[in-house]
Amino acid sequence: MKKLYIDFDGVILDTIRVTYDMIANLKLGTDEEIRDFYYNLDWNHIIKQTPELKESISCIKKIMATNKFEVNVLTHIHSYNEGVGKIEYINNKLKDVGVILVPKEINKCDIVNPKNAILVDDYLGNLDLWSNKGGIAIKFSDSNKKCKYPSITKLDQIIDMF
Ligand SMILES: [Mg+2]
Repeated sequence: MKKLYIDFDGVILDTIRVTYDMIANLKLGTDEEIRDFYYNLDWNHIIKQTPELKESISCIKKIMATNKFEVNVLTHIHSYNEGVGKIEYINNKLKDVGVILVPKEINKCDIVNPKNAILVDDYLGNLDLWSNKGGIAIKFSDSNKKCKYPSITKLDQIIDMF
């Protein structure tokens, strides 16, 4: 089985758009304001009101059913509350999928061993670090914009790539 790590924000749920809209409405500008905003966010509330991206949950169920992948969600967190919210959400929707929480200050590639493991992420910075350490980087994108890594626009597209 291939190890497959899936990002949460901007891949499973559309939390990036929802929180960016809130930041714009609140007219937050400085790095410190934005850091405090994420640190104090009520994730229980955010997760309830944020739409799923591209049928992500049913795609992950399809991926699991192939038995080709050992699947974990690998997600950055700003707070304890964010970690609890994400674990509860995944446990509730996908009972055999693990959740690995990564403190914002740490790289994803320094929490798990990327060697020959797949990371699906919408953020190029994470993919570059992953790839540099021998991991397989896959860009999740909502457009078909060209990227130096193989790209997918829906999670179940991963199934036929391996
Ligand atoms: Mg992301």
